Amino acid sequence: MSYAKAFSVGLVGLVGHLVEVEADLAPGVPVVTLSGLPDTALNEARDRVRAALVNSGEQWPNRRITVNLLPASLPKHGSLFDLPIAVTVLAGAGMLPLAPLRGTVLLGELGLDGTVRPVRGVLPCLLAAARAGIRSAVVPAGNAGEAGLVPGLTVRATDTLRRLIDFVRGIGPLLDPPDTPPPPPAAGPDLSDVVGQDLGRRALEVAAAGGHHLFLIGPPGAGKTMLAARLPSVLPALDDEAALEVTAVHSIAGVLPSGAPMIRRPPFQAPHHTASAAALVGGGSGVARPGALSLSHHGVLFLDEAPEFATRALECLRQPLEDGVVTLHRSGGGATYPARIQLVLAANPCPCAKPSGDRDCECTPLARRRYLARLSGPLLDRVDLRVQLDPLSSRQLVRDDDATESSGTVRLRVQTARDAAARRWAGLGVRTNARVGGADLRAPAYRLPRTVTRQLTDEIDRGLLSARGFDRVIRMSWTIADLDGRSRPSREDVAEAMFLRGGGH
Ligand SMILES: [Zn+2]
Repeated sequence: MSYAKAFSVGLVGLVGHLVEVEADLAPGVPVVTLSGLPDTALNEARDRVRAALVNSGEQWPNRRITVNLLPASLPKHGSLFDLPIAVTVLAGAGMLPLAPLRGTVLLGELGLDGTVRPVRGVLPCLLAAARAGIRSAVVPAGNAGEAGLVPGLTVRATDTLRRLIDFVRGIGPLLDPPDTPPPPPAAGPDLSDVVGQDLGRRALEVAAAGGHHLFLIGPPGAGKTMLAARLPSVLPALDDEAALEVTAVHSIAGVLPSGAPMIRRPPFQAPHHTASAAALVGGGSGVARPGALSLSHHGVLFLDEAPEFATRALECLRQPLEDGVVTLHRSGGGATYPARIQLVLAANPCPCAKPSGDRDCECTPLARRRYLARLSGPLLDRVDLRVQLDPLSSRQLVRDDDATESSGTVRLRVQTARDAAARRWAGLGVRTNARVGGADLRAPAYRLPRTVTRQLTDEIDRGLLSARGFDRVIRMSWTIADLDGRSRPSREDVAEAMFLRGGGH
């Protein structure tokens, strides 16, 4: 036998495609040719595979070896094809029976000493394999946890090439994925340790319930970061589908926590304002990797000191915020990653970032306006809540009442409100108030009576509110009504929404 074939998976963005790895061995000059659009890493695979085989005690076939990865048109990246290449080369040389691996997908990078190293993206690879009808997989031992999350797939793992070869020859076992239940996810910071800040807490709850983006303005020490970091804690846990999606993105980025692979809580990302556009939305040389934006998919992206971010970086967020996905273009092929996020922006009221009323602040009103104007336009236009936070007074700090609610209590109200919204908008294919289109809000079935919206229409008549601003207030009014268990927004709900909107625009 001089030909052998095995299965692996290639990723384009989050989408996995089945890849056939075939090896043909012919008499002649002993050279190795890899074909099928391999990138540099794949060419390096040739040397790694040879060293790994030899250092595993196997003989490298002294023949002309052609390795082909199909489909040729699929851009293939990375080192995860090492394992199937090694196996097909051996099998093609007649040194390994492939029957035990029939219908099995192989993923793994080889070290020169023959160890099998973990690779990125194992979860999305195996989800794709399972969808393509594959029923078993062999993965690196370091990826066994996430691989075990895929339903309907028998997963076995290996730590060395030697172990896999012994298994195929029927003289040793592979490793089973860990079946110990993962520890409960880390709870993260809780609202119960935020003192005072009634307005900030309310804004957080409304944002969570309606899926609204949030802008917090306040001097240093007003608790903006504290509040933002607690938004995930009042969001409902991810359902199975969302959890798999989020975990798959983190798998590709190579940032899955070991031990508890499935991400069940909405993620939180807080990139620094010096972050590059690539770090923010994704990119990198060669393979486009997900950035903070996609790592906060189904969770929260927090931009602290938002006006300090590069304008170009902020611009890059605009389209993904609209579409819920980000498409990255690279010479090696484009990639699309999910980006359905809740955005929280925070800013100091002025560029010097001195506490308000501080004598040292010499910023002119114009300088202050200019500073915040860096955020205006397309980005701020999508933010429903704009809340001004005051620094905590010493009286608030020592306030010792037991009225400080925990995140769990708030989360229950948020869940109830979200359920009500999801039921109401089910016909529109929308789950949260923030995503309901303006025309749908104003459709006869949902249009609010003039007695409820009078204050708003007055502001429109006086040129203080745009049609867009009107829709935003109405969306938040629905959220406030949902939170308070009313089937329709009242005049008071609209008034509170106007207040949370921060007036104007
Ligand atoms: Zn200042």
